[in-house]
Amino acid sequence: MGRRKKTFDCGHQGYGRYCHRCRQKEEARAREAERRQAWRERLRDDPIELGHLPRRVVEKTRAILEGLRDGRDYTDYHGKRMHYDRTVISIPIGRSYRLICRDDPERGLVPVEALSHEAYNTRYVKGRT
Ligand SMILES: [Zn+2]
Repeated sequence: MGRRKKTFDCGHQGYGRYCHRCRQKEEARAREAERRQAWRERLRDDPIELGHLPRRVVEKTRAILEGLRDGRDYTDYHGKRMHYDRTVISIPIGRSYRLICRDDPERGLVPVEALSHEAYNTRYVKGRT
């Protein structure tokens, strides 16, 4: 009755017709690829590019964008108007990132871009105050 261990082509040992260790690894890899694909597809639906941001920053930004779309005020998110251009609004996304919006007279608040605090300083702050 004793089941005999065999060595598979991959070099692993085990019972059955195929290597369960390699099968599990394959399945995990497939799930991960699916997860990444779903993430990429979701990024295409965002009103601005978020793919360059860490995942948690993307989630936070989406929450803000959703809130703004639902009619919440940018000040609810501690956003402020830039002094050199009152139509530009900067909203902090945590400590290290900023969401830039433009206050359009016809369309209201229009998201422009989300960027790191460093990029933000270079593009929106330095030499402009
Ligand atoms: Zn194997």
